[in-house]
Amino acid sequence: MSQQYDYLFKYISVGDSGVGKSCLLLRFTNQEYTATETTIGIEFGSSIVDLRNKRIKLQIWDTAGQERSYWMFIITRRESFMHVKNWLEDVMTHGHEEIKIILVANKSDLDSVRQVSTEEGADFAKKHNMIYLETSARQGQNVDQAFTKLAENIFDTFNLSRN
Ligand code: GDP
Ligand code: MG
Repeated sequence: MSQQYDYLFKYISVGDSGVGKSCLLLRFTNQEYTATETTIGIEFGSSIVDLRNKRIKLQIWDTAGQERSYWMFIITRRESFMHVKNWLEDVMTHGHEEIKIILVANKSDLDSVRQVSTEEGADFAKKHNMIYLETSARQGQNVDQAFTKLAENIFDTFNLSRN
């Protein structure tokens, strides 16, 4: 298989340890879910997607348990949602101004023990100009969409179809 691509997009996942960053990455790149008790120490993954007649390589860096690591919280732990604010401030201070962000709310399969409502997550994302999606790495729900939606957003923002 050819590894050629037209564009390379780099993603960084950021979120509390345990929210499912590694599981989401594995689900996206390997189409599999690995259930464990502890957090998985995966650091890097990549996949090529076809978008608007271009081949885009998505390179995803997982910060593996550090405080910064796409933007993610779990609907079942309110604290992990509150922390999103801190990282956002961090990235706005130190990051590139044209950075594109998706806010991913993972573990949507655990809806019955949810601590953050869809409205609240979506409102917060809207206020900070982020895309919002609720995912389940476990059930494979919205995982491909989360990675692809961000790629579409980058693609369209920088008008890459012209090239
Ligand atoms: P990370 O620290 O953010 O990388 O988190 P991990 O990907 O290692 O996942 C932490 C824990 O959450 C593991 O026990 C996973 O099995 C579990 N987990 C991850 N995604 C989901 C999900 O969508 N639903 C459920 N129920 N559990 C999940
Ligand atoms: Mg991890």
